[in-house]
Order: sequence, then C-alpha cells, then structure tokens
Amino acid sequence: MTETAPVIEIRNLHKSYGTLEVLKGVSIRAEKGHVVSLIGSSGSGKSTLLRCCNLLEDSQQGEVIFAGEAVKWQGSGLARRPADRAQVTRFRTNLSMVFQQFNLWSHMTVLQNVMEAPVTVLGRKPAEVEPLARALLAKVGIGDKAENWPAQLSGGQQQRAAIARALCMQPEALLFDEPTSALDPELQQEVVKVIKDLAGEHRTMILVTHDMRLAAEVSDHVVFLHQGRIEEEGPPATLFGAPKSERLQQFLSASA
Ligand code: ADP
Ligand code: MG
Repeated sequence: MTETAPVIEIRNLHKSYGTLEVLKGVSIRAEKGHVVSLIGSSGSGKSTLLRCCNLLEDSQQGEVIFAGEAVKWQGSGLARRPADRAQVTRFRTNLSMVFQQFNLWSHMTVLQNVMEAPVTVLGRKPAEVEPLARALLAKVGIGDKAENWPAQLSGGQQQRAAIARALCMQPEALLFDEPTSALDPELQQEVVKVIKDLAGEHRTMILVTHDMRLAAEVSDHVVFLHQGRIEEEGPPATLFGAPKSERLQQFLSASA
C-alpha cells in the first residue's frame, strides 16, 4: 500500500437485483481521514453502493478495494461471489456500518451491544474490551446508559450507542447509512454532533445522508447519485455552491 492508496475504493461497479440494474458503473474512493458523502433521491442506489463497500451485497462487475487489496472473486455475472471468506471478514471488520434503524440487540444491555462484535468476531477478551466500550459510550455522551436496555433509550441515544458499537471494532473506516433519518428533528442534532466530532478527528467515513447541511459541513468530497450513476461529484463548496447538472440543481432545491 502506498501513502496515497485510498482506504476504500470502488471501481466501475455494476450491481443488479435480478434484471434490475441499480448501479451502472460507479467509482468512488475515500482517502484516509477523508469524509465522502453520498447524496441522491430515494432509490438512486446509495444504500446499495454502501453495502457493496463492505461486501454485504454482491456485485456483478467492477472492483472493491480496501487498503490497496482488491476483493478476489469467483464466478461471474449474477453468480459472482467473493472467493475468500477470510478476506470478507477482514473487510467487514475494518469497515463498520451504522444503519438508519440502529439495529441494537434488544436482549443485550447497551454495554453488551458495544462489546459483542470485538469479543465474538475478533476474539478479544471481555475484560480488555470493556474499558474501551465504556470510554466510547462516554465519548458519544451516554456513559451513564451502559447498563440500560436499548428500549430504555431515546432514538438519538440508541443511534449514539450504535456508533459506539461501530467504533469499538476499531475499524479503518465507518460507513453511515442515513444515520439521522429515523430520528425526530430535535434528536437528529445529538447524532449530527457525534458525526461532526468524528469528522474532526479525521476518521475515514462514507456518509449517506439526506442532511445537506451536514454533508456540506463535514465532507471532503460529495457524490450525487442519480439512477445508479454518478451524475456529479466534487468538493462540497462546488457541489452545493455551484451545481452544474440540472438534476442536481433540482434535487438541491427540493431538499432545501
Ligand atoms: P437508496 O438508498 O438511494 O434509496 P437503494 O440502494 O436502497 O437506494 O435502492 C436502489 C434500487 O434498488 C431501488 O430501485 C430499490 O428498489 C432496489 N433494491 C434495493 N434493495 C433491493 C433488494 N434487496 N432487492 C431488489 N431490489 C432492491
Ligand atoms: Mg437508502
């Protein structure tokens, strides 16, 4: 890996669900310490692209590269799959995802949720992981909720617990899929603050968001997807300040 190799790179990715082609040759890259935001209308392929980054979805053509290492594939077309399970695990543990719907385990306390993957997936000792898990809960502002059940937390607190859980894997990059979309407006800000803090620490992140102010504030690069293709991309000042494509102009005025 050279100094300039991106943490995550997608090259010319094609992805279909059956006969529906949802990604039609998409390329993105996230450099170390950079935030890349994906914006676009519902159905444009943002979640699918994010899920292809950590191999939660298969794809039919194109490359997925993590830290200079390309995914090895077997088969072709709709039968194409990653060939090496150990490589998939390595990718997935290094690219932690935060979902719109938090997805905390309801039968585990908040602390147990945060500790679960490092212990079960990475095989780390609970006694070693616990101090980190507690420190991360404190960092996202819910240190006092460690012993609570997820259902006892507000949506904003649950999402912050989910972010602590993702961080506890000590991943190379974080993938966020509309992390504030399921929250009431007054709860969105507490999650936005955590995401801004992480961007300020120069974490590598890919952020799918409908929050244009957040994207404008934290991104190094913004990608506008339209019907499975990149319609326009660039630094936030250009993309939001001087959008060239008519579709992007329409999208931005509808999102304002
Ligand atoms: P976005 O996140 O931008 O709203 P998605 O990536 O979720 O878009 O979806 C892109 C397209 O793929 C949509 O047309 C959607 O209906 C379709 N799609 C998403 N997931 C599936 C699936 N599991 N099976 C079939 N079609 C899907
Ligand atoms: Mg989506």
